[in-house]
Parts: sequence; C-alpha cells; structure tokens
Amino acid sequence: MSAPIQSVRGMNDILPEETPLWQRVEEAVRGVLAAYGYQEIRTPVLERTELFARSIGAVTDIVEKEMYTFTDRNGDSLSLRPEGTAGCVRACLQHGLLRGQSHRLWYQGPMFRHERPQKGRYRQFHQIGVEVFGIPGPDVDAELILMCARVWRTLGLVEDLRLEINTLGDAEARRRHRADLVAYFRAHEAELDADSRRRLETNPLRILDSKNPEMAEVIAGAPSLLDYLDAEAKAHFEGFRKRLDEAGVRYTVNPRLVRGLDYYNRTVFEWITDRLGAQGTVCAGGRYDGLVEQLGGRPTPAVGFALGLERIVALLEGERGTAAAARAPHAYLAAVGEGPERAALGLAERLRDAVPGLRLAANCGGGSFKAQLKRADRSGAAVALILGEDELAAGRITLKWLREAGRGQETLDLEAAAAALRTLVEAGSRPAG
Ligand code: ATP
Ligand code: MG
Repeated sequence: MSAPIQSVRGMNDILPEETPLWQRVEEAVRGVLAAYGYQEIRTPVLERTELFARSIGAVTDIVEKEMYTFTDRNGDSLSLRPEGTAGCVRACLQHGLLRGQSHRLWYQGPMFRHERPQKGRYRQFHQIGVEVFGIPGPDVDAELILMCARVWRTLGLVEDLRLEINTLGDAEARRRHRADLVAYFRAHEAELDADSRRRLETNPLRILDSKNPEMAEVIAGAPSLLDYLDAEAKAHFEGFRKRLDEAGVRYTVNPRLVRGLDYYNRTVFEWITDRLGAQGTVCAGGRYDGLVEQLGGRPTPAVGFALGLERIVALLEGERGTAAAARAPHAYLAAVGEGPERAALGLAERLRDAVPGLRLAANCGGGSFKAQLKRADRSGAAVALILGEDELAAGRITLKWLREAGRGQETLDLEAAAAALRTLVEAGSRPAG
C-alpha cells in the first residue's frame, strides 16, 4: 500500500465534529445580514491576476508574495482570490450593477494566501464579507459597525472583542503625509528593519503596520495622518464617530491603524481580540471610494469589511460540543426484522412530513436490535424509534428515550408519536436562556 496523500499545507479539512460550530457562526452572520437588507453575491474563486494587482496594489504583501498565481492552458495569468472585494467590484462593473444605484452586498467563501501557516493564519481560509456601493456618507460606515456588533452579541463574543477605528483621509492628505513620513523614516533609517527599509521606497504607509516590536518606538514617533486631514475627511470621521457614540458603541481611535491593501481611504476599522495571540484581528474593513473608478467604472463610493471565520470559530472553540449536540438528530429509527426493515424508510418519510424541522436518522444496513440501539446512542439522538414486528402489525411505534433519566419507553400510535416528536423539535428550537 502506498502512503495516503495529505492535504496541501495550510489548507484545512473541516471535519463533521467541527462543522456544526461553523454553521452556527455562518447562520448567525447570515441572519444579521438579512436583518439589515443585504443581498448575497457569489463570484468565482479564480480571477485574472491583473484584477488583484490593480486593486489590492502591486507592491502590497498580498500581491508581491502571497498569491497563488499560475498560467492556465491558454497562457492567461490567473490567481486564486486572496480576498473578496476585487472580485465583487469586478462582477458589479461587468454586470452594470453600479449605474446610479446603491447596493448592499455580502459574500462568503474561501480565500487563498501563501502565508506562513500558524494558529489563526492559513493558506486557505474563509471570510464572510460585506460591500456597500453608492453611499458616500458616514452613516453606512456606522451601520457596518452596528452589524458587526450585532453579530458579536448573537455569538456571545462582546467581551472578547474591541473596536479600533481610524481614518486614512483622502488622496491629497495622504500625499502630504507620505512625503513627511518618508522624510521622518529616512532620518531614522538606522532603526528600520529590512522590510521597512524596502517599504520606504514602495509603500511607506505600510511601515506603520509593521508587527516587529523593535520598530514600535520609531513608529510611535512618526507623523500622524490625523494631522493632515482636510475638512471634508475630518467631518466624515466625526460623523462616523458621532453615530457610534449615539449607538453606544465603544471604540478607540488608533492613528497607527492602516490596512494591508492599497485601496482604502477615510474610514478604516478592525475588531480585535486578545485571545488569539498575534492573529488577533477577526474582522477588518473600511472605505474604498477610489476602487471602482480604478477598475474602470464611474466614481462610486464604497465601503466594506471581511470577517475571518477561522478566528471567530477559534474564539468559540469551547462551544464545539454544544453546537454539535444542537445539530444531532432528534430521533433515530431502528427497524428489526424483515418486514419492519422494508417499511422503515417509508415510515421515516411520513414522520418527516408530519413533523416540520424533525431531524430523523433512519437505520440503514440492518444489524441486530442491540447494534441499532448502539448506533442510535452514538448519533446523539434524544429518542430511538423502534419498529419491530409487533409494532408493524399494530401500526404503532416504540419511543425509547435515550437521555432523560426516568423516561423509559412508550409504544404509541403514529399520530401520538408524531405529536411527541413535535414537542421535542419545538423544545429544541426555542432559544436557550
Ligand atoms: P492580518 O493582519 O492578520 O494578516 P489582514 O489585514 O491581512 O490580516 P484582511 O485582508 O483585512 O486581513 O482580511 C480580513 C480578515 O480575514 C482578517 O481580519 C482575518 O480575520 C482574516 N484573515 C486574513 N488572512 C488570513 C489568513 N491567512 N488565515 C486566516 N484568516 C485570515
Ligand atoms: Mg495579512
């Protein structure tokens, strides 16, 4: 036998014991997005490489060294998407969605970056992201924050996350800031690490994003973009802050907060946790008013964010068991004997018809009564439904309660059995607490 083939490094399988927690997170986010009137868009995982170079920026880490890029059989350079915004803008332009209309969109799916795999940092990871087009004001920036806050409340993560905000201003302010920043870092060149020295030529703003602790001091002394803002960008930022204050959202202004992608302007924000070490940002976003035009469309204000699902799931790791239990079948149907086995699948269909929301696993593959009950127990079901020759002849079914001490078993006609199952389903769908 040859050695089994392993998955690609940094690309994870999400196993059945883990998927219930993922589903819980995804459903919570989707529920919030629906509550705010956002619509889903789905785009391919592969795009032309040029799209990312033109949007994210040719001299960003992502495009310089993290993309999975290859030449396909036609000789075209394609890349697995490292993020979702570029493809979303491309799709909106291609299908004429942005003509004078505003859109509130969301997407979900895998993203790919060739980074060094570590806890919270993978080569295939998953995001749910939001993009809003055509709304210039800070009101929608604040709405995005409120949406995130609602997701955290739904998932019980309020205590774990804090919000940092900043503004990157507009192009002119950034140009002036950049000139002073370069002058400052040149004067301190001896204190810069190799990466930052390189960025001094290509993308000096990104030096502020350095995670090297030895750089902290020189970064702290650098000129702050906040001192360069023009009146309009200042008013935008103040409008954003006022709305957050009004809604009671707590945040800190972090003037060092810049994003690793070139297309952002004005509002930027990150939701950060201290529980995941260096990989602490679980959600990040901001405004990118220039991107649509940069990709060939008419000037269109835009703002968005992306949630890193792996990191949110990691924060909720302790709830993996309860999430799995909440999705276990309610009932497991065991059928013993030739007649019952033949009748079982039909009976299961009738029960699923009669009890909306019922999760019923029907035994397949035969087995002794004992073996089938063992499977029922392992399935996590609350009740085993037993169909033997006697039950079949009488048009009844035995309910054996597997997890309630003192509640043994009862043999009921199908209507009464369905009623008992309905009660079980309803009890399970009531929100806890
Ligand atoms: P980081 O600073 O952690 O590298 P980033 O600024 O590169 O993050 P974004 O491009 O803004 O991240 O992506 C939004 C979110 O997606 C991040 O906040 C994070 O939760 C998640 N994310 C980004 N890269 C990865 C990765 N390689 N593995 C897992 N999650 C990731
Ligand atoms: Mg990164």
